[in-house]
Amino acid sequence: MPESPEARVRRLARSRTYNKKWREANSERQKKYFRDWRKGNPEYGVNYMKDRREGRIGPFGPEDGEDWQGRNREDFLKIKRENTNRRRREIFLEALQHYSGKEEPECYCCGEKTLQLLCLDHVDGGGNEHRREIGKIRVYVWAKREGWPPLFRVACHSCNTGAHLNGGVCPHQSASA
Ligand SMILES: [Zn+2]
Ligand SMILES: [Zn+2]
Repeated sequence: MPESPEARVRRLARSRTYNKKWREANSERQKKYFRDWRKGNPEYGVNYMKDRREGRIGPFGPEDGEDWQGRNREDFLKIKRENTNRRRREIFLEALQHYSGKEEPECYCCGEKTLQLLCLDHVDGGGNEHRREIGKIRVYVWAKREGWPPLFRVACHSCNTGAHLNGGVCPHQSASA
């Protein structure tokens, strides 16, 4: 059943009260968080104000032209995308470090260290099937959420494919055996 207009007004009033209480109870914590965040991102304030002044980023208002709402939306989506990508990179690195057991992750087989060339390799194969099972979520995000199950090792794409094509053992390994 869709929410009636009256119920909506009541719900929004409740959440406003709740948010206000939360802010009052946590104001010190929130202030500290932003203080620390600014310390870690010193370029943010400067670039942000410059971009605002020169009309590159929002929030825009009606005085910024007819398309101001669309521009706000684009900015919002861009920031959201950047945050998602940054978070993904962080989790990816965390996963590689966890599964290689090294601060500087490397391929279990050939020792490749270039992050862009590394991936999580399913120890017992079955990677495609597993990916289908977990759906759209990235394997490393899934692994973090599941508490790092011991299903993976770190491989470069080349050794990953090599093992896949060679019945589970990278040709590097069978050649040296
Ligand atoms: Zn390799
Ligand atoms: Zn290899």
